[in-house]
Amino acid sequence: MQIYNTQYHKKQEFAPIEEGKVRMYVCGPTVYDQIHIGNARTFLSFDMIRRYLMFKGYQVTFAQNLTDVDDKIINRANEQGRTAAEVAEEFSNAFIEQMRRFGILDPDIRPRATREIEAMQEMIVSLIDQGCAYAVPSGDVYFSVRSDPSYGIVSGRDLDQLRAGERVEVNDEKRDPFDFALWKAAKPGEPSWPSPWGDGRPGWHTECCAMIHRYLGTPIDIHGGGSDLIFPHHENETAQAMCAWHAPLANVWMHTGMLRVEGDKMSKSLGNFYTLKEVLDKYPADAVRLLMLQTHYRAPLDFSFERLDGAVGTLDRLATCVKNLRWAAENANQDGILTELDRTLGSAVDATRTEFIAAMDDDFNSAGGLAAIFGLVSSANKYLAEAGDTIATAPTLRAADMLCELCNVLGIDLSKATASEELPAELVDLAREQAGYEGDSASEAAEALLAARQAARAQKMWAVADAIRDGIAALGLVVEDTASGARLRTKE
Ligand code: AMP
Ligand code: ZN
Repeated sequence: MQIYNTQYHKKQEFAPIEEGKVRMYVCGPTVYDQIHIGNARTFLSFDMIRRYLMFKGYQVTFAQNLTDVDDKIINRANEQGRTAAEVAEEFSNAFIEQMRRFGILDPDIRPRATREIEAMQEMIVSLIDQGCAYAVPSGDVYFSVRSDPSYGIVSGRDLDQLRAGERVEVNDEKRDPFDFALWKAAKPGEPSWPSPWGDGRPGWHTECCAMIHRYLGTPIDIHGGGSDLIFPHHENETAQAMCAWHAPLANVWMHTGMLRVEGDKMSKSLGNFYTLKEVLDKYPADAVRLLMLQTHYRAPLDFSFERLDGAVGTLDRLATCVKNLRWAAENANQDGILTELDRTLGSAVDATRTEFIAAMDDDFNSAGGLAAIFGLVSSANKYLAEAGDTIATAPTLRAADMLCELCNVLGIDLSKATASEELPAELVDLAREQAGYEGDSASEAAEALLAARQAARAQKMWAVADAIRDGIAALGLVVEDTASGARLRTKE
């Protein structure tokens, strides 16, 4: 299995530190507001990656932090006249709720920065003791980038180049403009914790590093985040690990491409964002997931509601195919010797699994994986159209199961796409009126109505056939003519 490692700018064969096990960490959100769908794209990408590693048989331990103390949280709290803890609590809960709604698996470990102060202080003490960090009179503690000869290794930057090119915050207390705060002295009214350097709070880069070390041990197998975190966040994280524990923080660094709107990165500061919540209020989670997974996780993703509408249609095509396969299998009338057509479908099922795995083994190419899935949808639809009334149960069910299994690896749930749908009880009255039905079963009523419509059409009594169809439509159902007969299904 090949994974693109940001640090080496290339794909490498994946070899976990401990056989059969993967320890991975993905930087979590700063909880001051609802997350937007750009953030969600990054979290979704790593959910797909984690699910695929699990599918490959790895025992994955996945950790993700909540950054629950930060300037943005403090500012929001001041604007609203609340405490920073209240704001952080509200948006931590909102984040967890929206992630679950989006079908993202809960992390195995979800540390919160404010509960890990001790681990962070231990790391800072060790860095100072080893001469890699220094406290200044104001009460801040800085990491000295000069103390790490490998500084720049993840992002491929060189300190001299950086000093010449980039603008960083000017601060007289820093020995090097690229030194960064491990500990920030408390300003009045800010949340703070006692420390050997006075009351204060941890710096952002310090949080992740200390939590990774505490919960997963360093180095870990995979460290991930959006590509905007490569520098300085991940560079600074690994520099601390190198100096504190003399080992890199992670073996593989994975970064997702940015979600964009009309060419610009979606971000709170540009104001060009949609929250995950508002999008999931209007669209099925699996359609949003499908849209995102149709682009490789490292490529930029251009978001538009038009494309999302397209994904709703694509998801429907997928679910309808599974329903039709299951329905055809239930009503199959050929269980004996397989025909050429049946065998072709069987081979397509096997080939799909192979293609799916080949695509996903190539740096989690979910777009390729989906292309394999949709190849099977086309083969299955062709089979249903051509097999007519000689559907064979085994390959038909295998095709449906394969579609469900592979979609499930991507977190798309087709388990609800079953052959038998809940039909409304009102169908019975309609069938009594229009088809002379006398029983009281909704599914029998559906059969009777479809038979009556069929009979009317055969006799060219179009008005009667249309009236039956309209009666059915009024109940929110559609007549779907499949190769193996007509059926009723709920209008999506
Ligand atoms: P933040 O709360 O700003 O640290 O962001 C949380 C995660 O979302 C980080 O991994 C960011 O890299 C990622 N992220 C932020 N904006 C985008 C975007 N437009 N597209 C994809 N990922 C993003
Ligand atoms: Zn981080």
